[in-house]
Amino acid sequence: MPYGYHGKILVVDLSAGQVRVDEHDEAWYRTYMGGTNFGMYYILKHMPPGADALGPDNVLTLMLSVVTGAPFSGQSRMTANAKSPLTGAIGDSQAGGFFPAELKNAGFDGIVFLGKAANPVYLWIKDGQAELRDASHLWGLGAWDTETRLREDLGDGKVEVACCGPAGENLVRTGAIINMRNRAAGRTGLGAVMGAKNLKAIAVRGTQRPTYADPKGVKAVAALGAAEFKTNRGMQELGELGTAGVVLGQEFSGGLPTRNYRSGHFEYAEEISGERLAETILVGRDTCYACVVRCKREVESEGEFAMQRELGGPEYETIATFGSYCDVRDLAAVSKANALCNDYGLDTIGAGATIAWAIECYEEGILTDADTDGLALRWGDPHAVLAALEATAFRRGRLGNLLAEGSARAAAQVGPDAQARLITVKGAEAPAHMPQVKRSMGLIYAVNPFGADHQSSEHDTSYEENSGDRSLGWLAELGLTRPVPATSLGEEKVEFTLVTQYWTGLMDSLNLCQFDWGTTWQLYGPSTVAEVVNAVTGWDTTLRELMEVGARRVNLMKVFNAREGFTREEDKLPPRLHQPLTGGVSDGIRVTEEEIEQAKDLYYRLAGWDVETGNPTVERLEELGIAWAMA
Ligand code: SF4
Repeated sequence: MPYGYHGKILVVDLSAGQVRVDEHDEAWYRTYMGGTNFGMYYILKHMPPGADALGPDNVLTLMLSVVTGAPFSGQSRMTANAKSPLTGAIGDSQAGGFFPAELKNAGFDGIVFLGKAANPVYLWIKDGQAELRDASHLWGLGAWDTETRLREDLGDGKVEVACCGPAGENLVRTGAIINMRNRAAGRTGLGAVMGAKNLKAIAVRGTQRPTYADPKGVKAVAALGAAEFKTNRGMQELGELGTAGVVLGQEFSGGLPTRNYRSGHFEYAEEISGERLAETILVGRDTCYACVVRCKREVESEGEFAMQRELGGPEYETIATFGSYCDVRDLAAVSKANALCNDYGLDTIGAGATIAWAIECYEEGILTDADTDGLALRWGDPHAVLAALEATAFRRGRLGNLLAEGSARAAAQVGPDAQARLITVKGAEAPAHMPQVKRSMGLIYAVNPFGADHQSSEHDTSYEENSGDRSLGWLAELGLTRPVPATSLGEEKVEFTLVTQYWTGLMDSLNLCQFDWGTTWQLYGPSTVAEVVNAVTGWDTTLRELMEVGARRVNLMKVFNAREGFTREEDKLPPRLHQPLTGGVSDGIRVTEEEIEQAKDLYYRLAGWDVETGNPTVERLEELGIAWAMA
């Protein structure tokens, strides 16, 4: 018996209504480790090139890792992959909570969904057994009601549920997969893939926790994290304020995206800050299985923006997209938008940023009342934002159908003036970290296989001369010893971007939480990753071997994109990001196209890829032992 994992991947053929179990040997597990790597293995082998993302040929994977469920902070996460209905490129998204650990205890290391069910179904997994069941009574329900009904039906209040909401059922391209009512695998529209497959939910329960090669070693890592938390003020603040705690820091650096990214300065930043949230509507903190940090928010409010704590509280990204992006200054309204996104199954970044784009288009006369069904989309109007969100989730009217496509597809319908206002890469809306003030974000947004993403490399602020010994020491372990200012995009920064992309690639293969294992917040340093993998599995991995696992992830995703016709041409930022910002300390700052193109040349070279196409070479894939992916 392996340690830490089961050696079993559940494969569900929705068209045939059948389930089977694939067993893989230790070498397979050690090569891929989990997460995106497991997903890409199945996707590249089972999905034909050019498949319709909303058709039966798309392959949806939900994958754990060799360490998921082991009792230390930051391991209960899973990765979802499929072809993205938003971008046509690879889709990738992670979520935490208790579902991942429970799925491991239910006897599997991951699930692959093939085909499409004839009618709505859910998958019920318990202690190594799995079956598809009718879900017609769940269709149309939000995430909260879906979980409640399934727990009642299955007679067990401890069943964990992951599902799509009405947005996914309605094939909204920013649809998310929600577990625990408020944990979202939000990016790249994978909730819509569930909806398109008539797969409403996955319910899991189990008692088959794997054993660990060195249980004392696992305990020691858990104790190390707990001890660090007691003295690490940064981590304690993450627990107290959540990621919302970065709002004011972003504002001070001129990097809080405002009114559809036109400015990095939001005059009302304090009103939407994590501090204000804690003083007003915060009623509790929640956690993921075994994590000491408890950074998840619980908020409650009465009145016109009434919401209940079960649907969670907003992260920084959500506060920005529904707050400063839309010029909304009311935290209760922002939190209401967050709660609706969780219940309807929507990505808060994609949905919020799409609404901000629509507001700018309406304010500029590019969208008219005829396009918005008479809704006046004005800056700073929370009621208009919430109405647009409801319309999106249910594809209500002309506006709902437009916004449900995501901003890039919507703009293509509207015309060039609308396209000029996009903040998207490969069709995915950019998150709330501005490349103008954190320059490496410009490079990673451009080259990342699944579009603009803020968790696909470390942020520039951790690699400055004054970033602190802990952060710089941690990066030095990865071989990064040449810190430069956040606004630099020179050779040092390109190296930093690629190396930390491999690092986050490792995180998303092992499914480790980047808040516990990253450079912004940190309980653990890189060497502890090897320590914990070895304690769980009994292997003798090194950091060097693990970084190859991260590199595999990046290369496998890029191979998928190359197969779908993506080249260097699609690795580019939207024109808006090359224009100077207006107002605040970042007034006039811009990132030029030439700068990004030069950085791309070096990035592709360092990655061992073809500089002309921006795609992986056979030689590089052979080096990583994944040349099969090119076949
Ligand atoms: S730091 Fe926050 S998101 Fe990460 S595992 Fe802990 S509670 Fe979950």
